[in-house]
Amino acid sequence: MSNEKEYFVIAFYLFTSIADPHAEIAKHRAFFAERDVKSRIYISYEGINAQMSALKEHALEYIEWMRQDERFKDIDFKVHSYHEQVFPRTVVKFRKQLVALDHNANPHKCGEHISPAIWKEMLEKEKNILLLDVRNDYEWKIGRFAGAVKPELDMFRKFPEYAKQLKEEYDLKNTKVMMYCTGGIRCELYSALMKEEGFENVYQLNGGVIRYGLEQGEDLWEGKLFVFDDRLAIPLKEDSKALPVSGCHFCGEPSDVYHNCANMDCNTLFLSCSDCAEKVQGACKPSCQCAPRMRVFEKVARPKPFRRKHLCATVLTG
Ligand SMILES: [Zn+2]
Ligand SMILES: [Zn+2]
Repeated sequence: MSNEKEYFVIAFYLFTSIADPHAEIAKHRAFFAERDVKSRIYISYEGINAQMSALKEHALEYIEWMRQDERFKDIDFKVHSYHEQVFPRTVVKFRKQLVALDHNANPHKCGEHISPAIWKEMLEKEKNILLLDVRNDYEWKIGRFAGAVKPELDMFRKFPEYAKQLKEEYDLKNTKVMMYCTGGIRCELYSALMKEEGFENVYQLNGGVIRYGLEQGEDLWEGKLFVFDDRLAIPLKEDSKALPVSGCHFCGEPSDVYHNCANMDCNTLFLSCSDCAEKVQGACKPSCQCAPRMRVFEKVARPKPFRRKHLCATVLTG
């Protein structure tokens, strides 16, 4: 019999009015203090956005505890089982905005939420679809819905501009805009923006790709799903047969393994096969190989992320 402990990795968010976010934060911290929980949870006046991992029994206690609260009783907890914690610390913090966007989109005017089953059916049957991936480049690279388009933007804050551009290219009345992101939260705001721009039929994948994977497996999906924790990339279902859709930055061989550049002043996230990563000692480019602040390279099959800025930045953890 295995002694391995079982952990739950949980993701959820909810837009709901929280009158005193700081009190909520204190309650969470007290609850976690007695339990084996690691987290990245943000609470604002407008709601909560949470990613965490916890010992299975503590995770179940947490879910139960949250459900006793009238405000939180309908939260959709997305749960994966895992063999260890996937966050380094227990963070529960106040945030002014749950999703960073230089624009006041109203999540109450968002697109229509579509269940994974209906989403799949629509993708198979509907014509005139604009299948929109609203995640970042590094997420898109290793996996996405077949046929999806992605804004060519470095900074997601620029989404309002992109929405204006789409308005010129697509028929506002007849195009069915189908948007998705990792866990669903980004779509709450981006879909509202698309509606503001005049798109009449805007749909968002409820619970994001995580929920889709739990209910529909990897049908219509290519590759893996990027996640903002130590796992970095997960298959949409346990016995996944998906091949990498991305390649090693150096030799081009299929690879979906991300590394943070070993030069601590660079830290760029790049894809590399393990042979190439070893050859360059984890550096993303020649000039990084002889940088003054280098981490020691360790050859492992699935490197964990080095805690770089954007992973901790949280704003895009949808
Ligand atoms: Zn390679
Ligand atoms: Zn570098």
